[in-house]
Amino acid sequence: MPELPEVEAIRRQVRRVVMGGRIHKAMVRRRDVVRDRSNHRKGRLFTKDLGRGQVVDSVERRGKQLLVGFSDGGGMVVRLGMSGRITLEDGSKRNPVVAHQHLVWMVESPRPSQSPIRMSFIDPRRFGGVYLFGSVEDCRERLLTGLGPEATSIPGTRLHERLGRTRRMVKAALLDQSVLAGVGNIYADEALHSAGVHPERAGQSISLVEAEKLAVAIRSTLKRAIQAGGSTLRDHVLPDGSPGAFVGEHRVYGRGGKPCLACGKELEMLQIASRSSIFCPRCQR
Ligand SMILES: [Zn+2]
Repeated sequence: MPELPEVEAIRRQVRRVVMGGRIHKAMVRRRDVVRDRSNHRKGRLFTKDLGRGQVVDSVERRGKQLLVGFSDGGGMVVRLGMSGRITLEDGSKRNPVVAHQHLVWMVESPRPSQSPIRMSFIDPRRFGGVYLFGSVEDCRERLLTGLGPEATSIPGTRLHERLGRTRRMVKAALLDQSVLAGVGNIYADEALHSAGVHPERAGQSISLVEAEKLAVAIRSTLKRAIQAGGSTLRDHVLPDGSPGAFVGEHRVYGRGGKPCLACGKELEMLQIASRSSIFCPRCQR
């Protein structure tokens, strides 16, 4: 499942390649992956709402969502779900047959005399989707409501205040996008281990000092993962086809039963919020 660093790595590549380019064609292979501006996934879809004729004006990220803005003020929110990805290819070459290529945009390169770009949205499991909006306000009020503060810049005091509102386990609270936007299973485990906080602790029990440590751990874990281009997990491929490189740096995620890299004790596994949590029973209190 793509997490924030993967989405940010994708955003940077998409931005570099298509920002400032004009979309001259948008093709819909599978209607129901798109929610139109009325939030419907059936019925007539206007390709101009998918950006046809518009210049790509912005490529942003909010939590784990990618936001592409068009020059007419409209745009789309891309949610990658479990298995979604964006590919960027040379549009002057024939489109190879790609399974689950639900949407395709042809974009004129913003750099003169370069080939057009073919951008595709591919999502085998279809938990993701593309959500169209008509204006920045429409996007904010309809598609981004209920998102907590950005995990990449969360101050410790703010995290302490958000966790203090809940008796749920801290791991479950960190995964809740309304508490904090952008932390998923991998980086929650990594940050809790790095901060020495047990995943089963109640959110309310986390002291300000612990919240400060946890906030530092969240920000630095995400930052390092972004720099590495995200984790190489099944399905994570950057738009140019290269894999991310963070997996070699996971200290707890995927290492249940192996020795803790800090103290040597065997890492344990728990189910929290129906996700597996790996932690060190000695380092995390
Ligand atoms: Zn340990």
